[in-house]
Amino acid sequence: MIIDEFIEKPKILSLFANQRIHWSNFLTLLHLLMIKHGERKFHLASTNKRELKNLCNLADELELKWKITTGTSLFEYQKQAIPLPQNIANAIGTTHNGNAEEGLLITKDENALDSLEGSVLSDSNVGKILDYPDCCVKWYVNNKSSDWEELYAFVMEHYCEGVNTPVENIIQVMGECDANSPETRNRIKKIHVNHIAESRNTMPFIFFQPCDVCIGPSSPARKLNEKYANFAKENYPQLYKIIIDEGKKDAKYYE
Ligand SMILES: [Zn+2]
Repeated sequence: MIIDEFIEKPKILSLFANQRIHWSNFLTLLHLLMIKHGERKFHLASTNKRELKNLCNLADELELKWKITTGTSLFEYQKQAIPLPQNIANAIGTTHNGNAEEGLLITKDENALDSLEGSVLSDSNVGKILDYPDCCVKWYVNNKSSDWEELYAFVMEHYCEGVNTPVENIIQVMGECDANSPETRNRIKKIHVNHIAESRNTMPFIFFQPCDVCIGPSSPARKLNEKYANFAKENYPQLYKIIIDEGKKDAKYYE
């Protein structure tokens, strides 16, 4: 019943959802159902007001346990094409590391609810918690590191007066800068087309962005997608179909 009603009238459950495309809402429902069946352990979501109440209500309806867990953030930087100067990397780390980071944790087992309390909610750890392949997590961290490097280069070129600018001023300008370099825009466009749109069409049952290897055949991401797809097909055929259809709509948004 819950599933039929949700398909009829989907609610916002995901940070990635918009009012017209419900792919991420249907996929969240599927991932919660997998938790209920013991096929996945955790769902970890943002505590954004827009979806928080809907998620908690749905977890209650499915008789799952939930809590708002508090961990800490970590600046995970891996040197890419033009490495950040060490003092800049350190300064960014200082502004990020150890800050409180909240997440809505949903699980089947009451005892597992406290298991993440106080842990480091870095991209790598969140990837592990959510069963994402290591290669895709690493690729994501590398992309985010490139974001930082390109932002630093852009800020130095356009807003700062040379190498004598105090580090705290550079960090402040980086924090306020809402423009992207053409290099960043190109890279992100490629990720949207080659990874996000591509995977919505070919791997609509996973949330994460597949890495360069995983976009190819018989990869870890493909295997996970197949596992989740089979679960949906066997247990919730209507949900299976609508995730594929909505995935195609979502792909168009990124193409
Ligand atoms: Zn991968």
